Amino acid sequence: MKRRDLIKYLSVAPLAGAAIGTGVSFQAIAAAAPVKGKRNVIKELGLRTFINAAGTYTFNTGSLMHSEVIDAIETTSKHFIMISEVQDKVGEKIANLCHAESAMVTAGCWSAMVIGTAGVLTGLDRTKVALLPNLSGFKKTEVIVQKSHNVGYIQALTNTGILPVEIETKEELIRAISNKTALMWFLNKNSTLGKLDQEEWVAIAKKHNVPTMIDIAADVPPVENLWKYNDIGFDLVCISGGKAIAGPQSAGILMGRKDLIAAARLNASPNGGIGRGHKVNKEEIIGMYVALEKYINQDHEAEWKMWEDRVAVIVNAIKKVPDFSVSVYVPPVANHTPTIAISWDSAKIKITTAEIIKKLKDGSPSIEVMPDQDSLNVAVYMLKNGEDKIVASRIQEELIKATIN
Ligand SMILES: *Cc1c(COP(=O)(O)O)cnc(C)c1O
Repeated sequence: MKRRDLIKYLSVAPLAGAAIGTGVSFQAIAAAAPVKGKRNVIKELGLRTFINAAGTYTFNTGSLMHSEVIDAIETTSKHFIMISEVQDKVGEKIANLCHAESAMVTAGCWSAMVIGTAGVLTGLDRTKVALLPNLSGFKKTEVIVQKSHNVGYIQALTNTGILPVEIETKEELIRAISNKTALMWFLNKNSTLGKLDQEEWVAIAKKHNVPTMIDIAADVPPVENLWKYNDIGFDLVCISGGKAIAGPQSAGILMGRKDLIAAARLNASPNGGIGRGHKVNKEEIIGMYVALEKYINQDHEAEWKMWEDRVAVIVNAIKKVPDFSVSVYVPPVANHTPTIAISWDSAKIKITTAEIIKKLKDGSPSIEVMPDQDSLNVAVYMLKNGEDKIVASRIQEELIKATIN
């Protein structure tokens, strides 16, 4: 398209929804009319809501719960139940669904790692539970981690007082294992960066009788990852509840060896110990269970196809704008869903990623996307039906404006 044609193109497209011929009035979708007589607190507080084309990030409140989950939370909220009985029953169900010996609902994946590590250190010894994070007098005080996995998330473990020991090769790992080794931790997200894979990690640990833990926080889809790492033999598996599983954002799952889950529970609310503040109430525990069950049973192929259709809508709109390149990729482990990357020659187009992000955020409806190194990334798995068209036309509109300027 020539510059002059672009200007004409823009001027005949006052409503961005019409620009790519979708005919969807996005105001109609965005301004979800409040139910008559129902209080709209979001509006009262003047809070900005937005279309989530970024993905499941804690800072953007992760994912939205399905109505089945909200219903379960509401029903649960009307009754008293002993919290330990809820954990017992839900733990048993989750363990069955995910091929684990035992399970518990935690206050997120981070919480699962804190409490799980605490359980490894204390066992069922209440005296030890009361000491954490002071490990003086403890025999086993170290967690072994691959250098490429030793990133921010390990603080969940070091919260308990445990000390990381970094290794790179298999030989270094075997040399590092000692009578001080309490745990071997694996960060699945970084599995492609390390020298040892999950199977090797578990095999070496088992040979030396060291418990293993894996962080798979954002690593579904594929759904099989919910049981894959239990099947491989990790003693503890930690996952977020409020990412793609779409459970409560303040929930997660710790699953694995029965004795270690029992020890973890001793370190968590309603007990004292280092996890006393990691409280999950009955609503979140049951909401987590219902979300997990729904996630496992849903049609994953149909969902993937729906994501690809959304990607096509957005990609086709961007392709109409010259000087911008668009590609689609699927992150290999975490957030493994079709993702769009938009890039451009900054010598030719004088706009930065940050500027486009701000324009999309400040527009109506507000849209959140993520920056990457040299690109603007758009994820489609947290979009609601119809929002793909809005995202497509708004991005197209901003790119055309950038071309003209
Ligand atoms: C999100 C995330 C966590 C933290 O999970 P929460 O459920 O927010 O506590 C831990 N590790 C990785 C790799 C993550 O992506």
